[in-house]
Amino acid sequence: MAVRPNPVRLSCNQCRWHKIIAPRSDVVPNDYFLDECPKCGGELHRKQLSGLFSSLIRLLNE
Ligand SMILES: [Zn+2]
Repeated sequence: MAVRPNPVRLSCNQCRWHKIIAPRSDVVPNDYFLDECPKCGGELHRKQLSGLFSSLIRLLNE
């Protein structure tokens, strides 16, 4: 059984760009591994989402 990666929230320190990436399966989207902001090239903060919020996202995706 494939382990589904946890959703992550990416946010930029500089321009406040942010995105929540929730892989639907064991196929991880390319932007899951972003470490630069696509808007300004700034450094991204990555936060793993877990617990209730994670379950909610999975429910919405199924
Ligand atoms: Zn930015």
